[in-house]
Formats: sequence, C-alpha cells, structure tokens
Amino acid sequence: MRRSEFISRLEEDTEWDIVIVGGGATGLGAAVDASSRGYKTLLLERYDFAKGTSSRSTKLVHGGVRYLEQGNIKLVMEALHERGLLLKNAPHLTRTQPFIIPVYSWWKKWYYGIGLKIYDLMSRRLSLGKTAIISAKAVEKFTPAVSLKGLSGGVLYYDGQFDDARLAFTLAQTAADKGGVVLNYMKVTGLKKVDQKCRGVFAEDSLTGQTYTIRSKAVINATGVFTDDILKMDDHLQHHIVSPSQGVHLVVDRQFFPGEYAMMIPKTDDGRVLFAVPWHQEVIIGTTDTPVSKISFEPRPLEEEMEFIFRNINQYLSSGISKQDVKAVFTGLRPLVKIPGKKNTAVMPRDHTVIVSPSNLVTITGGKWTTYRKMAKVAVDNALFVGKLEKRPCETDSLRLHGWQVALNEEEPFGYYGADGEAVRKLVEENERWGEKLHAALPYIKAQVIWAVRNEMAITVEDVLARRIRMLFLNAQAALDCAAEVAAMMAKELGREDSWQEEQVKDFTELAKGYLPGGV
Ligand SMILES: Cc1cc2nc3c(=O)[nH]c(=O)nc-3n(C[C@H](O)[C@H](O)[C@H](O)COP(=O)(O)OP(=O)(O)OC[C@H]3O[C@@H](n4cnc5c(N)ncnc54)[C@H](O)[C@@H]3O)c2cc1C
Repeated sequence: MRRSEFISRLEEDTEWDIVIVGGGATGLGAAVDASSRGYKTLLLERYDFAKGTSSRSTKLVHGGVRYLEQGNIKLVMEALHERGLLLKNAPHLTRTQPFIIPVYSWWKKWYYGIGLKIYDLMSRRLSLGKTAIISAKAVEKFTPAVSLKGLSGGVLYYDGQFDDARLAFTLAQTAADKGGVVLNYMKVTGLKKVDQKCRGVFAEDSLTGQTYTIRSKAVINATGVFTDDILKMDDHLQHHIVSPSQGVHLVVDRQFFPGEYAMMIPKTDDGRVLFAVPWHQEVIIGTTDTPVSKISFEPRPLEEEMEFIFRNINQYLSSGISKQDVKAVFTGLRPLVKIPGKKNTAVMPRDHTVIVSPSNLVTITGGKWTTYRKMAKVAVDNALFVGKLEKRPCETDSLRLHGWQVALNEEEPFGYYGADGEAVRKLVEENERWGEKLHAALPYIKAQVIWAVRNEMAITVEDVLARRIRMLFLNAQAALDCAAEVAAMMAKELGREDSWQEEQVKDFTELAKGYLPGGV
C-alpha cells in the first residue's frame, strides 16, 4: 500500500460509490465489504489506522461469556458465529486460546461449567474446543500461578485471540487488494450536501494541509467514540448518542503468569469480568469499565483503575503483582450507545447501532471487534439503499484476508504477516543490518520498520512502534529506548531531515509517558 498512489487516485475528479469516515475495525471492515462487492470505495482516517479503540482492545475474538450470563443469547450466538468466521478467514492473525476459570466453591464449578458448556454448544459447527470441568490439580497444571488456597477446581473453555492493530492493517490491505482506496492522516472536516442530502465529504490531508472536496453516492460514519462529531457536522442540533466507557489493561512479564493458558475471572469485586491473557511475549491483564465524560485520542488510565486490577487479579494469583512489575499500560474507549435513564456503562448494550439520518448519512457504532464483519455488512447494505446503488451480494463470510496462511506462527517475528512474512524476511538480503533486533527484550527486527514504511503506510515513529509492531503496548520503556533509532531509519527511507527526526522522538517520548505505569 502506498499513500502517494492513493492520493493520486483521490485527486482524480471522480464520484465514489461509498466514502467511509474512520479507519478502525468498523470502517476498515466496511471498506473490505464494499470494495469486495465491486463498489468504488474510499476510506478516510484522521490519524493512523487503528489509532482509536481498535488497537486498545483485550485482543479476544469472543462471544462474550458475560453477555450469556445477562441472557443476551442473540448477541452471543452472533459473536460466536463471527468468531468462527474470523478464525477461518484470518488464521495468520488469530489463534484458539484456552481459558481457565479457577473456582473456589463446588457449586460455582457447576454453575460456570454448565454455562460454558452452553456457550460452546451455541458456537455449533464453529466450536473451538470442548468445555470441561477440571480438578484443582489440573487448574494448577495449566495455570501454575493460580492461588491454591481453597481452590476447588475450574472450568476449561476456548475462545479466540488476535492482534487487533495487525488485523486492522490486514483489512486495509484487503480493501486495497480489492480496488479500494484507504488513506490515513486524512481528516474529514465536513459533509458535502446536495439538496440537503449527504453527497460526499470535505477532507484535509494532515501531512500537507491540502484540502479536498470529495463526491460520493453514500457516506458511512464509522468513527467510534467520535461518532457524535460527525453527526453534529450533519445536524448541529443533534443530541449526543455515545456514552464512552474507559477500559485499562496492564501488561506484565510472563513470569507472573507462566504457561499458554489464559485466566478468566467471572466476577470481580464490582461484578465485572477480568482476564489475564498471554499475548506475544507478555501477559495482558484487564479490563475496567469506567464511564468518562472526556473523549480523547490518547485516553489515560486512572490510578484507581490500576488499583482495581491489582486488587482483583492478586486474589487469584500466588505471586502478587504490583505497579513496578507493569511493563506497559494502555487504555481504550468503548463507543457505547446511550440508553435514556441508564448511567452505568457496564449494563449498556454491547450490540451495534445503525442510524440512517434524514440526510442519508449512515452511522454505525457500538459492537465489538469480533463482530466487525457483520457490522460492516449492515453499514454497506444501508449505504447501497440510500445511495441507490445496484445491489450486489456480500462475500466477506468466506473472504480470505490479505496474507492468508494456514496458521499463525508466533515463534518468529513475521508470524502475523502471514504470506507476506517471506518478503519481510527477504529485506535482510538488501541490508544485513536489518536482521538485527530493535531491542534485546523483544523479537522485533529492523527489517520490520522498513517494511512498515514501504508497505504499510507508516508515517510516524508512533505508527511503527505502537501499531505496525506492538512494542509500545508490550514494553513502553523498550519502545522509548528504540525511538531514536527508528526515527533515523524512517528518515532515511522517507527522505526526511534531521529536524523531523528530532520532532518525532520528542512527540513519541511525550506519548510513551502515558504507557509507562510510573507516568500515571
Ligand atoms: C477496553 C476495551 C476492550 C475491548 N476488548 C475487546 C475484545 O477483546 N474483543 C472484541 O471483540 N472487542 C473488544 N472491544 C471492542 C472493540 O475494540 C471496539 O468495538 C472496536 O475497536 C471499535 O472500532 P471502531 O472502528 O468502531 O472505532 P475506532 O477504532 O475508535 O475507530 C474510529 C476511527 O475514526 C477516526 N476518526 C474520528 N474522527 C474522524 C474524522 N473526522 N475523520 C476521519 N477519521 C476520524 C478515529 O481516528 C478512529 O481511528 C474492546 C473495547 C475496549 C474499549
């Protein structure tokens, strides 16, 4: 993917079938759906792909065990179906993850055991493995860090796991493979109206300041927690519909949680679920659900959210985890849709919401990563209707995503590139120094920086270290240690001057402080 080529296509005087605003899971999914059906598709992202919530999830491809307990059968069945399709269509980015629920009373073992058996049955032919009620000894074997005091046994069940930002680029690449144009650093500044109907957008290239008037038959608003900003562009009297809720994750060394099994705690002291999940080389623990009033592109964790996680996870682990053990902390905002009269975000529905405005603007928000494909289909179907476009069937349920390869090979740094892994490896033949590791603590090599600039539209040091490779999310100090070297490599590739390098390192250092536990 080359940004300059996409800009040239944007500059052609053309009318697009569908313009999508927002390059997270929902917008990129819609771009794949629309371009694979053969529609002339353009996606515009204000910052970088997955800069918003879509790089800050718990990284689970799941049906949502919690929603089953809440009795939301339809939502769980739909998500389990989508889970199965994603694991088939992107096996190079996803894997089956076994989970253990440790239980400390005999009746809970049966309660959760039966519940999780139903969860598995609901996935029908797309089951990832059989749920089992297991002994305390087996729980200890699979999760050696578990607290044994009073342990009566556990439940073993299966869900999916993935790398969210890598899946986002894969969707961008898939849309591009299918003829779509996807542009990062392109902010939508207004909606273009003809006879009070939405017939395109105004946009500004953040890198050059160049402005564009873009014509289209339909516009999809897929801006997550920023949905209301676009709705206000459409109708300044529009009420807010999004009620953001913040979720924090802590990343710790695997020594605190050894083994390949994840842990699910079904009820924290305030009734939520908490996960400890092996991810790349480390373990993610989270998350929280804190209503917030301020919507930011870089949400910061609250001290009390970190304390909540320590307090709850330490009840289940033999070794205590504290702030000095945390390698990174990251925070995301859920785009929950308001229900009149409800203030507690934990009980707000996690289903998606579609709104077609009188101006024909199609807005889609809520939902989750796991259901992005279904959401994309709904959004595109609505766009076809308002744009009076010829109907063509959706193909994404069996569409193999860019780089499709039989299985994820997590043993090597190129595993998540799928079929492109070979090309990344080949870069080392061009310059053998690119075979060197970026940092001793993580397996990433320098060739991945070059690949990100040349093929994945990485523009800034943050794009590389936060999302093309996941260093910032895995070990914020290691990412800081590499920033200057990454800036130097990028400057050479992009033909940028010394002052650009200095600016990049300064910006990244400021940003990374929010990911260091001490920075909270
Ligand atoms: C803490 C947490 C944990 C989660 N864990 C999971 C999980 O394990 N599994 C799961 O399935 N789901 C999970 N989710 C849900 C999932 O991450 C979200 O539903 C999904 O990422 C939302 O994607 P989105 O595209 O709607 O929003 P976003 O990813 O926020 O994308 C919206 C994009 O719009 C862009 N934008 C905004 N304004 C403009 C503009 N004017 N012009 C152009 N672009 C603009 C933004 O820059 C942003 O990139 C989790 C969510 C949270 C918060």
